[in-house]
Amino acid sequence: MHGKKINRCRLCKSKKIQKVIDFGKIPLGNNLLKNKRQSLRVKKYPLILNNCKNCNHFQLSYSVDPQILYAKNYTYLSGTGPSMVSHLKKYSNYVIKKTNLLKDNIVVDIGSNDGTCLENFKKKKMRVLGVDPAKKPCQVAKLRGIKSINSFFNKKVAEKITRKYGKVDFVTSHNTLAHVDDIENIFENIFEILKKNGYFCFEIGYFNEVIKNNYFDTIYHEHLDYHHANPLIKFLNKIGFSIIDINIVNIQGGSLRILCKKDFKKKITNKVNKFLKKEERTNLYNKIFINTWEKKIKNLMKDARDKILKVSSKEILYGYGSPTKIILFLKLLNIPKNKLKCIFEDNLLKQNKFLPIYGNKIIGTNFIKKFKPKFIIIFAWNFAKDIRKKINKIDKNIKIIVPLPKFKLN
Ligand SMILES: [Zn+2]
Repeated sequence: MHGKKINRCRLCKSKKIQKVIDFGKIPLGNNLLKNKRQSLRVKKYPLILNNCKNCNHFQLSYSVDPQILYAKNYTYLSGTGPSMVSHLKKYSNYVIKKTNLLKDNIVVDIGSNDGTCLENFKKKKMRVLGVDPAKKPCQVAKLRGIKSINSFFNKKVAEKITRKYGKVDFVTSHNTLAHVDDIENIFENIFEILKKNGYFCFEIGYFNEVIKNNYFDTIYHEHLDYHHANPLIKFLNKIGFSIIDINIVNIQGGSLRILCKKDFKKKITNKVNKFLKKEERTNLYNKIFINTWEKKIKNLMKDARDKILKVSSKEILYGYGSPTKIILFLKLLNIPKNKLKCIFEDNLLKQNKFLPIYGNKIIGTNFIKKFKPKFIIIFAWNFAKDIRKKINKIDKNIKIIVPLPKFKLN
């Protein structure tokens, strides 16, 4: 088994789901192999976005087996950048103000990574505990004195936590909950480990921002859900939470921050209610818009292709960055074979491997000097600013193409 079709809505369990966007079959963006011939023949999986007619939730049509997705070839290194560090510091201030957390309270982070978020609570003398399935970040967290359980957050881990610490005061989670296979169990386990009147706050990518800004390439196999507030809040209410506060935060291309309370009342505040009403008037609820979005994206990419071919003429292109989203991007960009040569990459785990299906070699950025490229196209375009600085330092004459969110050449 390589995965399974998702036939029900992951939030409301309805079977009334419909296809909205079909990107065809593509390989897993993180499946980078050292052998070029093998990489040209890797398995492809359907990438189709579905919508639930009952609650309007968006989700993929197919779930790839997590063992395949996250096992040995998973090359994403999370390295928490400075903007995330300062974001999480402000986040902790927000939480403490809203929930009156006190010294000695117990704080648990689901998907705690290297402990950056928990450190802020630890500084305020709270007792903190992280849970994360990735081994390396857990080791880093432990080194900075933050206890971390190296595991997925499941029932067994939840029971282990309550046995050892009792019920906890606060649970937090950042950009983790769109990746999980069994979403209902995770939220139920979070509810379970909280004390009565305990709080749960989480941040999750906001699909409304994806639509608004054409960040279509954040749609890939690892992201099973594309959340917005209305279906999500119904789901949280069903589990037993009241929803206290909701905000859009400017991190990871636009995220939702939702603050919940385990008071068994299943209520929502006026502010949350207003947010939901406003959201209902957006494009997410406009079926015609959603259905034509695919066309819009394809036109955008065709436009990018025409411009790239025109400005580069007969020159070979080089790439910078091989994020997971590169596969869908290259498929839609559809430039002639052999037009793109190598891809420069900072992540050591990705270097000296090949892009699945396309077979472009991924090499260290030290090769920029050697190859003297005339054109570099930045595939990790959400980091274009930092990458541009790096390239300019090496050679000011290289022309840099940033394809999205707006085509730029200079
Ligand atoms: Zn639904």
